[in-house]
Amino acid sequence: MTMEHGEDCCVKVAVHVRPLIGDEKLQGCKDCVAVVPGKPQVQIGSHSFTFDHVYGSTGTPSVAMFDECVAPLVDGLFQGYNATVLAYGQTGSGKTYTMGTACKEGSHIGIIPRAMAALFDKIESLKSQVEFQLRVSFIEILKEEVRDLLDLTTTVGKVENGNGHAKLSVPGKPPVQIREASNGVITLAGSTEVHVSTQKEMTACLEQGSLSRATGSTNMNNQSREHSLVFCYYILLVFNESYTLVSPCNSRSHAIFTITLEQMRKTDPIMTADGMPIEEMNEDYLCAKLHLVDLAGSERAKRTGSDGLRFKEGVHINRGLLALGNVISALGDEKKRKEGAHVPYRDSKLTRLLQDSLGGNSKTVMIACISPADINAEETLNTLKYANRAR
Ligand code: ADP
Ligand code: MG
Repeated sequence: MTMEHGEDCCVKVAVHVRPLIGDEKLQGCKDCVAVVPGKPQVQIGSHSFTFDHVYGSTGTPSVAMFDECVAPLVDGLFQGYNATVLAYGQTGSGKTYTMGTACKEGSHIGIIPRAMAALFDKIESLKSQVEFQLRVSFIEILKEEVRDLLDLTTTVGKVENGNGHAKLSVPGKPPVQIREASNGVITLAGSTEVHVSTQKEMTACLEQGSLSRATGSTNMNNQSREHSLVFCYYILLVFNESYTLVSPCNSRSHAIFTITLEQMRKTDPIMTADGMPIEEMNEDYLCAKLHLVDLAGSERAKRTGSDGLRFKEGVHINRGLLALGNVISALGDEKKRKEGAHVPYRDSKLTRLLQDSLGGNSKTVMIACISPADINAEETLNTLKYANRAR
């Protein structure tokens, strides 16, 4: 099936197929996903899907992915367009690796650090004409509650602040509220916004927030921590226990790193060689934001530990992903869009928060992350179907 899916469509969909990882190799998994050479097409079993882009494990997918999918969004920020990059997929499929949310991935550089570098390059090249201000926030949505990942006072345990003093957790801080201004701009009341002026400062925010992202546990997080956990895995297999393993990042939460770029044209007119102003100088002000979203694992609740609490989280997370799927599919439906059909942003905190950066004039890229392993075939197929709906 080929759909016209030109530049004017506001949602682009890419697939990132990671290679088999150590844990899967140890279990003797087979590769069940084929990328059709030269085409943005993936095959699994008898199913075949076409997307805007497909990145396999050959070449340098992260460079191509950034250049083709994300660089245009960074450029768009300078024209005042909001944008969203979403990494979707089951736990262990490579969302955090692809986004670079966890920073430390050996020599691999994910999308967020690349976006930062591109942003600062562009700022550097324009700063003689334009004054820039940058802010970042980093929040997570867990069980339909927004948590500020940059607020040290809500981080449990001892965290060093800038002066080397430890701050302690303050219980009872009101949760972050999502607000909509009369002009449709969404803001987060009560969340920390850090003003940054260098890439180093921005990276520090990313690292700090990643550290404080809630620790949760699901049965499948072992894929995220293959090295240290293979041993535990075998012990647990021997005892045939049901088990939960703690991951450094919570796979049940959506993590949203937001960069806000404000631009003000400098008042001095730019002159041509013969002293003519190139453009008339009005106080041009633009503000745009880029959301970089590491979504919660898309696996169903039934596949995680069966205690009531975990199941409840699973149900809530599905609400965000479900709403996102509905919003994106409504946006992608040209006919419905023209008829002004209802876009169900209000169905979850996630879509509410992203409302002014999904659809309209904003640009959205969804990167569906998949494992090639045969044991994950069912979830991989679910992910491809979800991503296909977004087209
Ligand atoms: P998720 O965030 O979706 O749960 P992770 O990003 O943590 O998944 O990835 C799970 C494991 O797979 C990690 O050990 C990660 O290093 C590895 N991995 C993910 N994507 C790739 C890739 N494209 N190439 C090599 N290793 C990868
Ligand atoms: Mg992750």
